[in-house]
Amino acid sequence: MNIRTQLILSYIGIVLLVLFSMGLYLRSALKGVLDKRITSELEVQAALTREFLIEQLPKIDSFTHEEIDSLVDRLGEAGKVRLTFIGTDGTVWGDTEREGGALIAMDDHSTRREVQDAKNFGSGMIDRVSMTTETEYRYFALPVERNQKLIGFCRVALPKETINSALGNQQQMLLYAGIVGLILAILIGIFSTGAIVKPIKKLTQITQSIAGGEISSRVEVNTNNELGQLLQNFNLMTDRVHEQIDKISVENQRLETILNNMNEGVLLVNGASEITYANPAAVVMLNLPDMYVGRALIEINRIPELQALLLEAEQTDTVAYAEIRLGNLMESEAEVTIVPVAAESEYVIVIHDVSHVRKLERIRADFVANVSHELRTPLTTIHGYAETLLNSSTKSKKRKEFIIKILKHSARLSRLVSDLLELARLESGDVELKRSQCHLNSFHEPILDVFEPVLEESGLVLNWDIPESLPQVNVDHQLFMQVFVNLIDNAIKYTPDGGEIEVSAELSSINSDVVNEVVVHVKDTGIGIPLESQSRVFERFYRVDTGRARKMGGTGLGLAITKHILLCHNGRIWLESELGQGTVFHFVLPIIGQV
Ligand code: ADP
Repeated sequence: MNIRTQLILSYIGIVLLVLFSMGLYLRSALKGVLDKRITSELEVQAALTREFLIEQLPKIDSFTHEEIDSLVDRLGEAGKVRLTFIGTDGTVWGDTEREGGALIAMDDHSTRREVQDAKNFGSGMIDRVSMTTETEYRYFALPVERNQKLIGFCRVALPKETINSALGNQQQMLLYAGIVGLILAILIGIFSTGAIVKPIKKLTQITQSIAGGEISSRVEVNTNNELGQLLQNFNLMTDRVHEQIDKISVENQRLETILNNMNEGVLLVNGASEITYANPAAVVMLNLPDMYVGRALIEINRIPELQALLLEAEQTDTVAYAEIRLGNLMESEAEVTIVPVAAESEYVIVIHDVSHVRKLERIRADFVANVSHELRTPLTTIHGYAETLLNSSTKSKKRKEFIIKILKHSARLSRLVSDLLELARLESGDVELKRSQCHLNSFHEPILDVFEPVLEESGLVLNWDIPESLPQVNVDHQLFMQVFVNLIDNAIKYTPDGGEIEVSAELSSINSDVVNEVVVHVKDTGIGIPLESQSRVFERFYRVDTGRARKMGGTGLGLAITKHILLCHNGRIWLESELGQGTVFHFVLPIIGQV
């Protein structure tokens, strides 16, 4: 049902309600008024008739029916009422409704209520159905006395029909008024609702067209009332929405341009690992088919490392990162970062192709390895000849001094070359580890053998505090020795005399019982490493204080080698340091299936 019909119906309802309640009220009011009027009319008629009867009735005690009835008939006709004269014994002597024999045959009226009341109380009024005429009357009876002697009762009656017909007239009037009222209500309804419904209709049409995509549609406002204001506000609101949509589409376009022109692949997958978006770079990198949206990533691209990374991001609900070899392009390496977007339970996968960088790194590493290799032979020769010269010529002090310098520098160069070769070997990834199960304490003795003299010389204390209860580790013993040597060598080099070096370890488990790790700490009370250098000391040739480091005989490759040895063992290394207080190097080694 539309608003207009509803409004018109409510108008009609109001009119009907008013008419109905008015009808009810008028009916009862009119009934009361008519009742009173008829009663008083009856009273007047009865009183007048009584006076007439007293005057006109024959002055004898025995009446004849004819005499009295003709008198009663005349009086009744004049008063337009039913008139009856009843004798004290109940005989009906005259009645406007009965003549002759019928009158005589009328029964004893002394038992009628009105007659009884007139006799006992001076007047009697009652509404009842006449036993004679069988119609409903209002009777009013008065006693008729002459010379203080009761000679009979005069009774006046009016048919109730008169009251009902008056009420019927009133109801008819009300019905006519009601019909006119209804017609008026409908007409007013049609005109007045038009003003309300028209703007609403307009608004409905416009909202429909906006919902259909025509956001530029606006409502025409030509009223100033509340509805006009509503339409105006609607137009304002639509303007705002339009502006916002424009802004969002500009942003979207910008974003799309960026995503389309990025070298990095960007992929969105939902909680069910189905692709919801992929930029062109991702399509190429993962060799996605045309209809990739909605398809599971695993179904399209079977890269186990990518699946594992996605699983890791799902389970840990944190950013997962790994360097992965992408399957479609041979030798294509990529850094993949998966970021969970918690609110949407989606994952953003960013793929950064690092094949080129890795290739350059390999070329550089190969070059360094080749140069180092080529340098090794001439260096050995130089060193050999210098040693021979030193042994054979002892004459000139100056000459001896030069030869010692040549020997010292060639030894340093050899160290550098072998460190470079070692690093190149570790970086190439094809180091064959000769792993064996051993306890970390098995490194204690060999370390003491290497460092005892220098520790004594500089008055440093080495505390080796690794519990025997610690599980064994699976490492290449000879290679791993280098880790301890490098870290303790640095601790000795960068700790002033009288300081302390502590090697300790404990077991630590990360997130599940499956993987357990041993954490080793090499702590010194040395000069410390400034904050800005802390992340760089693992780079090759990086030194905090180049002059000092060189004097200490370092090559600047020790920590880079240490880091790579740990990487080969699936471990990792980091440090904590405070200037002037000391440095702690922490490294972890996984223990698989032992705890
Ligand atoms: P180097 O052969 O010069 O020692 P490393 O790679 O072993 O080269 O160390 C890199 C640099 O890190 C060092 O030159 C030194 O500045 C700093 N470093 C390493 N270990 C320590 C330490 N225990 N205390 C202070 N500085 C250190």
